[in-house]
Amino acid sequence: MSKNIINQLAEEKDSYFNAAIPPIFSNSNFLFSNVEDMRNAMSSKSPSPFYTRGSNPTTSIFEKKIAALEGTEKAIALGSGMAAISTAILSQIKSGEHIISVRRPYTGTDRFMKEILPPLNIEVSFVDGTDTENFKNMIKNNTKLIYLESPNSWTYEMQDLEEISKIAKKQNIITIIDNSYSSPINCNPSKWGIDIIIHSATKYIGGHANAMGGVICSSSKIIDTINNKEFKLIGSVLSPFNSWLFINGLRTLPIRMKHISESTPKVVKFLEENSEVKEVIYPSSKNFPQNKLVKKYIKKPCGQFTIVLKSEKKSKIEKFCNNLNNFFMGASWGGHESLIFPEISRYNNNSEYYSKTDFLPHNFVRFYIGLEETDLLIEDLDKSLKSIT
Ligand SMILES: *Cc1c(COP(=O)(O)O)cnc(C)c1O
Repeated sequence: MSKNIINQLAEEKDSYFNAAIPPIFSNSNFLFSNVEDMRNAMSSKSPSPFYTRGSNPTTSIFEKKIAALEGTEKAIALGSGMAAISTAILSQIKSGEHIISVRRPYTGTDRFMKEILPPLNIEVSFVDGTDTENFKNMIKNNTKLIYLESPNSWTYEMQDLEEISKIAKKQNIITIIDNSYSSPINCNPSKWGIDIIIHSATKYIGGHANAMGGVICSSSKIIDTINNKEFKLIGSVLSPFNSWLFINGLRTLPIRMKHISESTPKVVKFLEENSEVKEVIYPSSKNFPQNKLVKKYIKKPCGQFTIVLKSEKKSKIEKFCNNLNNFFMGASWGGHESLIFPEISRYNNNSEYYSKTDFLPHNFVRFYIGLEETDLLIEDLDKSLKSIT
């Protein structure tokens, strides 16, 4: 019988006194008493513990579980979601080459592609991902990578993973997807031929807003190469303590996702029926224009959506946000706590990136539904919406 991935896989309990959960190997270093053992540890294809910027026993348990959940041969964990994204992209592209990316990916990814890659002589073209033809039409002789986020951040535009990966494979183009929105529970893009799958573990995988990390899942060939090169040489190591927190996070990931899949559609339905709300953009709503793709790729409803308030008055929008008691405002999501991220908070920000960026309209508010009782959240929204009528 195969082992339960979350409770058992990769846990060799008899090597640590049958403790119920694995220890935190907080080591930088692992020691040898003869040259042969040291040589073997360094040269081995699947590296044995030698130095934590390379391999760590606590982190390895986390990596094996994530790879199994995503259905890939291997995974590698890094210090943040952005570390996973930048390391994976840099592993697949060099000067003089071209990337096609879905437009409006996660803000950090957008900035990486606009601020870090062009000075390295790497060109990025952004396309509307809702039409697969746009990827096809943008391919040039030097295109090496297609970067996806399905659905993308804030506006949740879906991409047809199977069709895009078919086009890419024909032309020897690698595909990468940021799968954070769905978690490994609700979408497994390797099934549709996507080569590299990334998660910000900071979000659903950790699940308690207490640790930052990221993962890259792929074939042994790709992961071994990244491990030996970009991971070691760029050096964004996940701390063993955070690996341990993520192993704990995984234990409850399926039931957290189950709760969220039941709770979020109820909150969305309430908002869709409220006259102060012009629109709710939510992939799992019956009103979502790309319903067919959502049905094909996302197993159960997830916890993020964006609302468009009817009012365009700044004071009303801010009042609605400020009057919520059970939603805090914050950048992240995927934890126990429900959050909003008002687009209006990005206005009048004098950073250079924001001065060059097309904002969404200021009446957009991004939501994340956490683990609180659904009725409590709906009551809170009702009260706050009434306060601006
Ligand atoms: C948060 C986030 C990231 C970045 O992850 P960090 O762990 O914050 O570096 C990447 N992609 C998406 C979709 C995210 O929401």
